[in-house]
Amino acid sequence: MIPYGRQSIDEDDIAAVVEVLRGDWLTQGPAVSEFEAAIATRVEARFAVAFANGTAALHGAMAAGGIGTQHRVLTSPLSFVASANSARYVGASVGFVDIDPETWNLDPRQVGPCDALVAVHYAGLPVDLSALAFRPRVVIEDACHALGARTPDGPVGNCAHSDMTVFSFHPVKSITCGEGGVVTTNSAELAAALRTFRNHGMVAKPQYGGWYYEVASLGFNYRLTDLQAALGRSQLEKLSTFVAMRNALADRYRRAFREREAGGLVLAPSPGLGVKHAYHLFPVLVSDRRRVYESLRAQDIGVQVHYVPIYRHPIYADTGVSPLDFPITEHVYSGLLSLPLHPTLARSEQDFVIDAVIEAVHGTNSSSASHDHGNDAAHAA
Ligand SMILES: *Cc1c(COP(=O)(O)O)cnc(C)c1O
Repeated sequence: MIPYGRQSIDEDDIAAVVEVLRGDWLTQGPAVSEFEAAIATRVEARFAVAFANGTAALHGAMAAGGIGTQHRVLTSPLSFVASANSARYVGASVGFVDIDPETWNLDPRQVGPCDALVAVHYAGLPVDLSALAFRPRVVIEDACHALGARTPDGPVGNCAHSDMTVFSFHPVKSITCGEGGVVTTNSAELAAALRTFRNHGMVAKPQYGGWYYEVASLGFNYRLTDLQAALGRSQLEKLSTFVAMRNALADRYRRAFREREAGGLVLAPSPGLGVKHAYHLFPVLVSDRRRVYESLRAQDIGVQVHYVPIYRHPIYADTGVSPLDFPITEHVYSGLLSLPLHPTLARSEQDFVIDAVIEAVHGTNSSSASHDHGNDAAHAA
């Protein structure tokens, strides 16, 4: 199977983990602090707080931002369910903002009153947070797809237009810890709240004795291990290379599908001027998606759909929204398919995928007229 995404591990990564195994610390220790410092430097944020995974990091961001039962959180429906679940973890209500046909990110011009926004950089293309029609008290970037991406305001993660940015280090993401996540912020208060939250809510009170700590708020054990942090630190050195390889493969897809008659195929939006895409995913729109999916899967090509819109999950039925409220999301979802894209994808494998996709879409009777929502970005590439 050629997977849609996969990790890229070398001997340096293995040596970094083995070195931790020979030392004194296994769980959160000096390697976590070093990894946090390296992430903060890389994304040009003042603070980075590591978590056990990206979902825990999103939960931490909600809690540190003071979001609770009386609050309303908006996010993109075209995302992994954790983007919305994080609001549910703290008891907040959830709403969705339809996506922009030019970016497939939530449309910042349609963001209305809410207490917090979870802005997802879908596929690794940054959402333009300078264009928010409404700026809530807490803005969280779900940048789980976008480590290594840039906007004209600098690297994603510098929180130029947000309070906190969340990254994931799951094996399919830009770099991996096995499992892992981080929140970056420029606020010392938020960083302190995040550290307390990931460690049971414990706060040391040395004035009462070296052993003494107090728990004044509910926290969790969301710590990253030193084993995972050492892997992440070693992987981070290769981030620029990984993102460059993803961009080169994405350009190759665009060129191949443009040069060869790939009728009906709509490509993922490409980045505008001054924007660097992290290309976590290379999604396309096809007609008759189910047949194309089955045909590619039968050839051991691990295409996937990112994502079933979050409001379609039964757990969000109580939001009372209907798919009819999100026409652009529904249109994109109806044809959506992620093609394999990762640094270990060989050119020969990519050529095999390109041939198979072209053959599969040519087997489709319906015309491209069903994809008429003006995705000019795909043609501009
Ligand atoms: C991967 C991902 C997450 C969750 O990250 P985990 O580390 O798997 O918990 C959250 N949001 C988005 C958009 C993701 O892609």
